[in-house]
Amino acid sequence: MDATRRAELSNQVSVRESPFQMALRQFNTAADVINLEDGLRQILSSCKRELTVNFPVKMSNGDIRVFTGYRVQHNLARGPAKGGIRYHQDVTLDEVKALAMWMTWKCAVVRIPYGGAKGGVVVNPKELTLRELENLTRRYASEISILMGPERDIPAPDVNTNPQVMAWIMDTYSMHHGYSVPAVVTGKPVNIGGSEGRVEATGRGVAYVTEQAFHKLGMDLKGTTVAVQGYGNVGYIAAKMLHGLGCKIVAVSDSRGGIYNPKGLDPNAVLRVKEEAGSVTAFADADRVSNQELLELPVDVLVPAALENQITDRNADKIKAKLVVEGANGPTTPDADALLWEKGIFLIPDILANAGGVVVSYFEWVQDLQSFFWSEDEVNNRLHQIMTRGFDEVYAMAKERNLDMRTAAMAIAVKRVADATRTRGIYP
Ligand code: NAD
Repeated sequence: MDATRRAELSNQVSVRESPFQMALRQFNTAADVINLEDGLRQILSSCKRELTVNFPVKMSNGDIRVFTGYRVQHNLARGPAKGGIRYHQDVTLDEVKALAMWMTWKCAVVRIPYGGAKGGVVVNPKELTLRELENLTRRYASEISILMGPERDIPAPDVNTNPQVMAWIMDTYSMHHGYSVPAVVTGKPVNIGGSEGRVEATGRGVAYVTEQAFHKLGMDLKGTTVAVQGYGNVGYIAAKMLHGLGCKIVAVSDSRGGIYNPKGLDPNAVLRVKEEAGSVTAFADADRVSNQELLELPVDVLVPAALENQITDRNADKIKAKLVVEGANGPTTPDADALLWEKGIFLIPDILANAGGVVVSYFEWVQDLQSFFWSEDEVNNRLHQIMTRGFDEVYAMAKERNLDMRTAAMAIAVKRVADATRTRGIYP
């Protein structure tokens, strides 16, 4: 190989695919599987609306800072827009578009009647006071209220946003309208119209599909070893639920690094340390590992539950887990997908594995619209039914067509959205 060609190749390797490029590649693979016609390919590969807002916030010291936020709606053929709001210093429009597109497929794969959306603000919330966070949230909510509404676009929590942030959004929207509009946002605290079981829903759904995978593959979940990357809402609850099902949680991590103890960790004890010291890495009874090392540990199940782009062509061949269950959105790149498939690793893709959050968000919205609330058992039983049905449908498609689980899930989802678009027709 000559020097110019070598330089070209090394450039290609160093330029990383963006999340939206990744999402498009996954979409095109699924579109090929279902022989999707060109017109629908064009519609479904673009985001319907992309709003950028630059807005001022009064800081505690009297200064004014301007922040940038986004709200993107990918497709509304199957229902109103639904998707979380992320606060992170690395948020970009490209990332929000990818997350919005993944939401469309996620709602379709579990048959929830929503379209996909996502929002984000470029901010490190850990650098803000509580008052500044509230001011930023209320102003961002006002700015995106031209898109929001219980019949139009319903936000929810994502990375670094929580029930309190959802409460501020609900209150801001309600103040503009002069009456309470609980159904404008989900993931709210229960005392203002939130649903029982919503906080746990995503992690619980991760555990339900893992259990179903073990059942279908004829394997026993009891005593299996699990590593979880990211110890926030999704990661902690997934660890707690899997521990409850008899798994041994041997490694967990957060943005500061990870911990590993082959004898097993108590998820609640680790959480207490994280709450007190700010990170799981302060947990005494374990060895320190980096986030990269955690992914490559000799475990049965790996749950990436932090951010995108964690399992790539650089480390996929070092993954030793038998199952990868994507709690996070977009943790595995398409190149890594192919490598994991070659190695026979069974991967439950994000649009299925972490759909429990949007399923219970849908339950919350239904309860708010009817002002009629369900017990936690009712919520969890219905969640269980929907997650196992979703898993079974994807697994059957994967077997029938000899596809990996992501391509199977995407093919089912893209077909449902394409069918809805065709049935509605193109306006005018
Ligand atoms: P969170 O803010 O509650 O937790 C995120 C966790 O990831 C924290 O422990 C943080 O320290 C850790 N983290 C951040 N950067 C990291 C890094 N580089 N390496 C390792 N860990 C890192 O967020 P969450 O709601 O748990 O969301 C996690 C993932 O799950 C995201 O991809 C999100 O889109 C996805 N998701 C969340 C929900 C939900 O209901 N919250 C639903 C579906 C999907």
